[in-house]
Amino acid sequence: MRVGLFGFPVAHSASPRMHNAAFAALGLAGWQYELWETAPDQLVRRIAALRADPSIAGANVTVPHKIEVMAALDGVTERARAIGAVNTLYREGDRLLGDNTDSAGFIADLAAHGVTVDAHTQALVLGAGGAARAVVHGLLSQGARVRIFNRAAGRAVTLAADFKTLGDVRAVDDLSAAGDTPATLIVNATSAGMSPNEDGTPWPPGLRFPGGATVYDLVYKPATTRLMREAAAAGARIIGGIGMLAEQGAQAFARWTGKPAAEASVIMRRTLGATPQ
Ligand code: NAP
Repeated sequence: MRVGLFGFPVAHSASPRMHNAAFAALGLAGWQYELWETAPDQLVRRIAALRADPSIAGANVTVPHKIEVMAALDGVTERARAIGAVNTLYREGDRLLGDNTDSAGFIADLAAHGVTVDAHTQALVLGAGGAARAVVHGLLSQGARVRIFNRAAGRAVTLAADFKTLGDVRAVDDLSAAGDTPATLIVNATSAGMSPNEDGTPWPPGLRFPGGATVYDLVYKPATTRLMREAAAAGARIIGGIGMLAEQGAQAFARWTGKPAAEASVIMRRTLGATPQ
């Protein structure tokens, strides 16, 4: 069987390495993960080809197709609908369905690091793009209180409004008081600090970090971002995003193969060097 990644571009993706390692380690001979670079105007044709080919078990979907692909499917899971984006396609009988494994992948990686998210968690999420939507969904589904800050403030307001039925979520328009505001978990869901712009950070230079906070950075390239270095120097616990990459992949893998996500996750973490310390 085959699975693959629709996106543009996709050459940089770590997904083939981790999925193919899990196929081999879990005895799925004949399974392979491929890269299917797909320009925006090719998406509809690509989905039709996938539907017509029974040797394809499913796919991952990445930028720029995560939202547009939904219109070409027979349905999406409740969490994908809430997040408003799909990263995994899978078959159920004759139907081609969409799921979003990013929010559960994020929560699973926190759990792997021994961080419990519950009603005592006071989270500050930086960003309001697709990844932030998955993170906010994951946090609220565990009962956390969530505050959202985004450079373009209006997008944070919209995000908070979209999720208000799921729990205590609000946009904040200023980070200057963040050092004095209780926050147990700060999450960078922006692309600030991502290679090749490694000097970037979403945290205003000189601003204190709340005491005792864990800082989770979704960026995984570089493995240690400027935000993580500065947070660690200020005494915070830091976690990078490579484990979330493994966990969201393991959940997609389980959808396609029926194997437990936990088994795939062990292999994928090892392949990516994402073993929690
Ligand atoms: P996106 O939809 O393009 O959103 C980008 C977000 O980053 C927006 O909120 C944008 O703010 C903000 N931003 C960009 N540059 C910034 C800067 N210099 N300072 C402050 N904010 C900035 O992207 P995405 O899909 O949400 O992905 C965001 C990041 O998460 C990427 O680095 C991606 O690689 C990572 N990610 C990791 C995983 C994982 O498994 N670890 C999964 C998904 C995504 P404005 O609205 O103001 O432009």
